[in-house]
Amino acid sequence: MTALLEVQGLEVAYGHIEAVQGISFDVHEGEIRTLVGANGAGKSTTLLALSGLVKPRAGSIRLAGEELTRLSPHQIVERGLVQVAEGRAILTTLTVRENLELGAYRRRDRGAIAGDLDRVLHLFPRLAERLDGLAGNLSGGEQQMLAIGRALLARPRLLLLDEPSMGLAPIIVQGIFQTLREINAEGLTIFLVEQNVRQALKVARHGYVLESGRIVLEGSGPQLMGDPKVQAAYLGG
Ligand code: ATP
Repeated sequence: MTALLEVQGLEVAYGHIEAVQGISFDVHEGEIRTLVGANGAGKSTTLLALSGLVKPRAGSIRLAGEELTRLSPHQIVERGLVQVAEGRAILTTLTVRENLELGAYRRRDRGAIAGDLDRVLHLFPRLAERLDGLAGNLSGGEQQMLAIGRALLARPRLLLLDEPSMGLAPIIVQGIFQTLREINAEGLTIFLVEQNVRQALKVARHGYVLESGRIVLEGSGPQLMGDPKVQAAYLGG
């Protein structure tokens, strides 16, 4: 397997706060890989750096061999690295359809956009039922589906998710993760950041544990799930 994303020695600081302290990891083509850790470990900061929204102090981020740290956020999206925002960032006064279309606003391939919209509505039938309703009337789980659907309309090569489980009931979380599996089975590479360590390690082929800005453990999903340190710290013993 070849690495689609390669991160080497990434450091990010906010003033004197060293949020990310020299981490290295990769994501291989076709897999779901995860970065898990507690509140404040530096997960969101890592994703912000990948998306070009914060400038790293050091390190390199390469997508399919191309260095991203010199590119602007929109150039990074054009290269195919697309993030589903934490807290969803849904535009509540627009309809579901309008929110989805925003995902494709940089694209000019009308026919392909229509096909991608069909595919998203097939993945999320709830969105199809509410296509012309206001996004603000959706439940939390439906808003998360909408955020994922909108990201898919940008035609990602690598989809980044920041805590898709946040604030959602367990049954809804299971549905979201099942959908991530389906999208991945269709060929999309996914990098998932999560505090819900159990769910994340269940879907991921490989994972990293982040603590205070450093990767302290890595392994396959089952390996990490069985690790006594992971069990004690994140899985309630
Ligand atoms: P969460 O799950 O709460 O989002 P996280 O693992 O994503 O946690 P980060 O949000 O990346 O962690 O935060 C890492 C560290 O950087 C924390 O100490 C946090 O307080 C600090 N931090 C994050 N954003 C900023 C900012 N804009 N300015 C200053 N410090 C920040």
